[in-house]
Order: sequence, then C-alpha cells, then structure tokens
Amino acid sequence: MTQIDNRTQGQLQPEPTTTPRLRFAPSPTGFLHIGAFRTALFSWLFARHSGGKFILRIEDTDLARTVEGAVEDFTNGLEWLGMDVDEGPTIGGPFGPYYQVQRKALYQQYASQLLESGQAYRCYCTPERLDEMRKEQIANKLPPRYDRRCRYLTAEERAAHEAAGETWTVRFAMPLEGQTVVHDMLHGDMVFKNTDLDDTVILKTNGLAPYHLAHLVDDHLMGITHVLRGEEWISSAPRHVQIYQALGWEPPLFYHVPNVLGKDKKKLSKRRNAPSWSDYKKEGYLPEAVFNFLALLGWAYDDQTELFTREELIKAFTLEKIGISSGIYDPEKLLWMNGVYIRKLSLQELVERTLPYMERPEAEGGLPDSVQRPLDREYTTRVLALEHERLKTLGEASYVVSFFYEKEIDYGLDILIQKKMDAVSTHAALVETRDLLNSLDTWEHTVLEEKLRELVTKLGLKAGQLFGTIRTAVSGRTATPPLFEMMEVLGREVCMKRIDQAIAKVA
Ligand code: GLU
Repeated sequence: MTQIDNRTQGQLQPEPTTTPRLRFAPSPTGFLHIGAFRTALFSWLFARHSGGKFILRIEDTDLARTVEGAVEDFTNGLEWLGMDVDEGPTIGGPFGPYYQVQRKALYQQYASQLLESGQAYRCYCTPERLDEMRKEQIANKLPPRYDRRCRYLTAEERAAHEAAGETWTVRFAMPLEGQTVVHDMLHGDMVFKNTDLDDTVILKTNGLAPYHLAHLVDDHLMGITHVLRGEEWISSAPRHVQIYQALGWEPPLFYHVPNVLGKDKKKLSKRRNAPSWSDYKKEGYLPEAVFNFLALLGWAYDDQTELFTREELIKAFTLEKIGISSGIYDPEKLLWMNGVYIRKLSLQELVERTLPYMERPEAEGGLPDSVQRPLDREYTTRVLALEHERLKTLGEASYVVSFFYEKEIDYGLDILIQKKMDAVSTHAALVETRDLLNSLDTWEHTVLEEKLRELVTKLGLKAGQLFGTIRTAVSGRTATPPLFEMMEVLGREVCMKRIDQAIAKVA
C-alpha cells in the first residue's frame, strides 16, 4: 500500500506579485512537433514582453510512457529557437525541483489534505474492475466514467479494504450537481454541467500524481500567472477549477490556445505532417525564420505584417491578439520566409552557416563524399555568392552547387542538345565555343558574355540555344546561377575540360 507522505518540502511560496510567470510543461512521452513549440513560444514571448519569467517544467509522472532523450530534445529545441529559460531542470530556480517525479511528496501532501477535508476519497477498485466497467459502459453507449462505487463505501467497508491491505488510488469527489464556470481569456466563460465531471484520479497507486493534480499544484506553488496550453485541455479545465476551489486556491489565467492545423484542417501530428525542430535544423531552416513563422501560427499583429525580428516580436506580442481560430501550418510559407531570412544574411554569415551543411556526409545531405573536406572557404564564398538570392534552405546548397566541387559531372545528351538543334549543330557550336574561349586572355564574366554573344550572332543561333548548350556542358544542369558569372567562378581550366568532354560526348 502506498503511504501518503505528509512531509512538506519547505517549498518557497512566491511573493504575491504581478510579474507574469509562464511555463512550458511538456511531458517527456515523445518528441514534440513544432505545434507544441508554437504554444511555448507564445508563453516565452509574453514573458519577455512583460518582463516576466519563462519556466520549463518536465511533467514526467507517467513513468511508463517516458521516452529517453525527450527532455534533452526539448531543451535543445528551446535553445535552437533562442527561447531562453529562466527557471528549469538544467538551470534550477527558486521553485524547484522542475521535474515532477521529484515533487511527489508535494502532490501527496495536497491529496492528503483533500482526503482529510472529505473532498477526495480512496478508491480500491482494481484495474480489472475498472476495465470491465468501461467496456460495459461503451457497450451501452454510455460515456466511460468511474461509477463512484468507492465514494459511497461505508466506514466498515472502507476499513475492510484497508485491513485487506488493498492498493488504492485517490479520487477527487466532484460535485454532483450545479455548474462549473471556466474563465478563459481567449474563449470567455465556459459553463460545464457538473454531472458530466468524472471523479478524477489525483493520486495513483504508485504515489505519483497524474497531470490533473500535479500540474495544478505546480502551477500554484510555482506562482504561474498565465497558463497557455492546447485547447484539447478545455474539457479537463472544469475539473481543475473544482480542484483549485477545493484547495482554496485562485486559478491562474487560462488561455486555451487553438491547435495548429495542417492545410487539410486536421490537427498536426508528428506522424502525419508535422516536423520537429530538429527536422528543420537538418534541412537548413534558420532558427530565426522558424521563430518568426511559429509566432504567426495563431497570432497576428495586424492583417499584413509577416516579417518580425525577435525584438520586434517581443515588443509587439500581446496575449489578446492570439486568435481563436487555428493557425494553419503552411510549409510553403515557411520556405518562402526562410529564403527571406537567408537573403538578409551577409555573405560571410551565409558561408559560415552553410559550410557545415555542405561538409556533412553525403548520406546526411552533404556534398558527394568524393568531394574533399574541408571545403575551400574562399572558393565557397564565391560559389555561394552566386546562389545567395535563390537559396531557400541552407541544406539545399549541397545539391544546388555540387557541380562546382565535383571532379566529374554526368548528364544526358537530351539536356545538352537544345531545342531545334541536333548532335551535329551542337558539336559545331561547342567546337566554336572552345576555340573562342581558348583565344581569350581573360576569364572575366563581362568579357565572356560579350564574346559569347558575338558568337551567337556568328553561328546564327538563338542566345538560349548556345547558352543552354554551354550551361549544360559546364554544369551538367539546366538550372544554374547566371551563366557567365558561373563560368568565371568555375574557372577556365574546369570549363575548358568540361567543354572538351561535351564535344566528345556529342561527337
Ligand atoms: N504535460 C502536458 C502536455 O504535455 C502539459 C499541458 C499543460 O501545458 O498544462 O500536454
């Protein structure tokens, strides 16, 4: 049998204060998708806007579902997004511990208090009985709910269960009639019939408290002033309000924030369509772009401004502007926004931040393994200067510029031979190009352009035909940066070798 531990933990009670205190309270039962970080971001932004505190608390009382590495993932995700934590498991703080398993005694203390005041009771029902009851209710099309058998045990029956040494949980005795009003800052007052409220378990047989008691005790003791959480918690909120009342505590301000939905209007799910922060990182999204993008998922400053720096968001962010309709996750918008942020980087910053993506192994999205690392910084700066305007993610650089680094390029004749040309005319054009380029004593792009335009006229071709042929010959691609700048960066030696190879290919 679990003993209720009556020790208090010498908890510091926060001073009554108006300084906002907001928390992110993830359960380490899996890796969070980006929607969860969006809600955390709202809390963080408001904390920073108001000079308040942002607290990380790990809600790990569901031991069976705890996933290794999850806490690290949350912490790294917050760090990547630049959401610094004022109090939390790694840095501590005055209201710790910040892991719920370490706060067990506190939950037991308040469960005892509720037992003593008769607002809670011990339930001796076995999991088997509860299971059978649930199945029966479902079969009879009734909402599955505890039938309150143990709430009405006589003193003798209770004593008999105790004497038999049975295990028990503690359930909160919900009022059986009347209504509960949940004040929600976004949705207004929501009224619930008490007959619909289940006698929630507030202490499990292992002495740990489930979410319904644990989060509430912590929010209270940690002085949380504003609770922002997903709207899936709305249906539980009246139960929480009842528990707050029973403990004589003032609930915090509730903001049940609409979920982030996919474009199909369905809830985002990690399995279906929602990446995690680390997926974004791997693909080469900039955290500052993701930050900006997330802030607009369910919040808007006005109906047009989309680009905000971190400081601008902190300044502009208020909770009233959180919408009550869901934010729609649009990956194309993120891609666009990321491109905007990439263009804002200086060329040096771009190189600094893109090099690790290009230098990682090919299997992880880097340049082909045949390309020697580390890459030449100066050359890479010239290469990336050509793509700066077009890059949408840092990760795509590996593919987009790989022909600048590869010793051999491979392509089919179909992309070498242009419209209304054949092998013979392509061959002739390439031979002329080679001879012309060989005669140049400079490899400057303006000269290349001038001379090659003259060649177009001389050969009676369209510019697109000759330049398309040369583009494919030197890059193996049909889409590249501007041809002449690209040739200048590739250099005379590489271009001439590749043109020779193209001549041989089409001969
Ligand atoms: N641990 C809860 C969850 O991960 C937190 C909900 C809340 O913010 O209160 O869903």
